[in-house]
Amino acid sequence: MALESTPNHTQTVAGWAAHDSSGKIVPFIFKRRETGVNDVSIKVMYCGICHTDLHFVNNDWGITMYPVVPGHEITGVITKVGSNVKNFKIGDRVGVGCLAASCLECEFCKNSQENYCDQIQFTYNGIFWDGSVTYGGYSDMLVADHRYVVRVPDNLSMDAAAPLLCAGVTVFSPMKDCQLVESPGKKVGVVGLGGLGHVAVKMAKAFGHHVTVISTSPSKETEAKQRLGADSFIVSTNDEQMQRGKRTLDVVLDTVSAQHSLGPILELLKVNGTLALVGAPDRPIELPSFPLIFGKRSVKGSMTGSMKETQEMMDVCGKHNITCDIELIKPDQINQAFDRLARNDVRYRFVIDIAGNSKL
Ligand code: NAP
Ligand code: ZN
Repeated sequence: MALESTPNHTQTVAGWAAHDSSGKIVPFIFKRRETGVNDVSIKVMYCGICHTDLHFVNNDWGITMYPVVPGHEITGVITKVGSNVKNFKIGDRVGVGCLAASCLECEFCKNSQENYCDQIQFTYNGIFWDGSVTYGGYSDMLVADHRYVVRVPDNLSMDAAAPLLCAGVTVFSPMKDCQLVESPGKKVGVVGLGGLGHVAVKMAKAFGHHVTVISTSPSKETEAKQRLGADSFIVSTNDEQMQRGKRTLDVVLDTVSAQHSLGPILELLKVNGTLALVGAPDRPIELPSFPLIFGKRSVKGSMTGSMKETQEMMDVCGKHNITCDIELIKPDQINQAFDRLARNDVRYRFVIDIAGNSKL
């Protein structure tokens, strides 16, 4: 059922959508639901461009429902609150990430792990309870259930904080799971220095770890060390550097968006080390058994983070003054930004100035 045919979808919104797998983004007018008793309305200020948006507009995963309005790294200001909403008021600076709703009743919802609820509804390309397709943050206004909204700390700027809502929490959650948050002294590897990877480096450094970047881009070495604070840099195509790195790392976060081999990365882990996969290539990745067996190593996945973790991550970023390194663009530059993102040419996240507040 299209949003337009859902009776309580009365609010007209201007956004940007792709209509087919060419992935081309064009202006798109659509309707959102009325602001319900549990909802808040948000004037969108900024929205980050996650590589997931690129996977979706191009239908890389074969699950895109067109037209798709991408965007799940959203910051903005509350303009309306429903009658049940007590924790937000008009004017609050807030953020919305990947999650739009969950069942609220299963073991995962009850234990603040609603990101693993099997009825999870995503901010875009999801089917909401009323049967409508969800539309994301490449749009000037959003209606969100208040349980899936977090506060943006006052000291963080709204544009550079936007990518924390997906990239930030997606790397924070496995770091927490691997006991890396606020417990220093581990050797952490980050594979892929893109949107997710660069914020992982900043967080891991802020938490007091020794950080090694594993990258296909030698040109990123100086910046990784000088700007982002990485201690060490391995070019993954350089066999000698990879050999030298064997058995040196406790935890590796793999943020790579394309197919690549896991064997050499697993070899970088110490015995008992953990590889946490968050990158989501469109084709299956081979998992060789020998480096797992000979090093008693583990591989696990992680899907964004819970709402509790998202707020915790925002607050930790507030405390450590962590935001993303961004390239701010206007909405009419989204297609160019997608082209550059596909070519691995961004330092390190595009953010769309939806409300036109910044001088560009
Ligand atoms: P991104 O900014 O494009 O960064 C990905 C990085 O991967 C690139 O900067 C590049 O780093 C490396 N890379 C690209 N192609 C490669 C190749 N063929 N072989 C090896 N390395 C390659 O993307 P992102 O926004 O950080 O997202 C990364 C992935 O995470 C995407 O697949 C996205 O869908 C996924 N994701 C997952 C979750 C989740 O919940 N699990 C949430 C958000 C995003 P170097 O230049 O350093 O090699
Ligand atoms: Zn994302």
